[in-house]
Amino acid sequence: MSLAPDAVIYMDNNATTRVAPEVLAAMMPYFSELYGNPSSMHTFGGQVAEAVHTARCQVAALLGADPEEITFTSCGTESDSAAILSALRTYPEKRHVITTRVEHPAVKNLCENLTAITGHKYRVTRLKVDAEGMLDMAEYEEALREDTAIVSVMWANNETGVIYPVEEMARMARQRGILFHTDAVQAVGKIPINLRQLDIDMLALSGHKLHAPKGVGVLYIKRGTLFVPFMTGGHQEHGRRGGTENVASIVGLGKACELAAAKMDEENSRVKAMRDTLEEGLLTAIPKSLLNGHKTSRLPNTANISFEFVEGEAILLHMNQQRICASSGSACTSGSLEPSHVLRAMGVPFTAAHGSIRFSLSVYNSEEEIAFVLEKMPNIIDSLRKMSPFWKG
Ligand code: PLP
Repeated sequence: MSLAPDAVIYMDNNATTRVAPEVLAAMMPYFSELYGNPSSMHTFGGQVAEAVHTARCQVAALLGADPEEITFTSCGTESDSAAILSALRTYPEKRHVITTRVEHPAVKNLCENLTAITGHKYRVTRLKVDAEGMLDMAEYEEALREDTAIVSVMWANNETGVIYPVEEMARMARQRGILFHTDAVQAVGKIPINLRQLDIDMLALSGHKLHAPKGVGVLYIKRGTLFVPFMTGGHQEHGRRGGTENVASIVGLGKACELAAAKMDEENSRVKAMRDTLEEGLLTAIPKSLLNGHKTSRLPNTANISFEFVEGEAILLHMNQQRICASSGSACTSGSLEPSHVLRAMGVPFTAAHGSIRFSLSVYNSEEEIAFVLEKMPNIIDSLRKMSPFWKG
């Protein structure tokens, strides 16, 4: 099977994913005939409440949780904020937070601004990572203190795909009576999760990373965990989040979780095989290219590769001309090209951090697309290097 001449090759699934056709089909009635408010007393509203309940059960099944532990939110960012701020309000006397240097801005920027947000002074320990993006568990153990209100460590990194030992970290926090939150936005649907067996108190996920729509998320709150709502208002979500539910998106998220639970093993091994072919092909064909992140403790869909002595933005523009969509690890801020905080934390050299590209695949990619990218990339990098004042190849 060959690619259509105008085909878009989408390899940016850690940014967002395509809504699965089955998900869209499940959502449609909730925009048209089933438009009732789930809080209404009448049967019409009751049908919609039933659909929200079904979605809650579908999400719970994927996570190995109970439906009452699932709270629907507007996105992953809201879920992260709700978890961390709830812990700080629950334990106002505890003024220490532990997180890592590689968190998504949803957690990173919140933790950097805790004093401005809460009006109280906090000490934040940001755990270091090594060159492969892995944490030092001895540093973590030492950081756990009596006045630690919460530990927030992502399950998997959005840029490198590195998977963190949150099971063990949560166990260590629990032994000391400290709350543990994980941003699992990139992990859910890509690796098996069974919260019933774990000491994780709160977990954030986001619909649009697993083939559900944008604008819906979940905060898992383990039974028995004290919780102070982030959004106060009506009695929705068992009083944990006021506001009329985004019903169609919640239904879509439920369906996406059901699909992920049914097909995770099969789909992820196919995605991983494609990712490995792409990764090995690029690293072999292109000199001075390096993998960022641990070789094996990594999501099956993510490959972050640095092409030394070229700018990520320039690579992306050339890829875009070939209709290949990916992301770079550098962001253009205030006129300067700053490499990502994740790659900087890993100590990736300047010349490599600037030329990093994240390929993130999904089940909708094909072997033909991988072959196309492998055919185009060497020329793209070669032509850019010829223009680079730093390239001495
Ligand atoms: N956390 C991680 C690890 C992410 O990758 C993202 C999105 O990129 C978020 C949080 C934020 O999720 P949302 O876009 O639903 O707010």
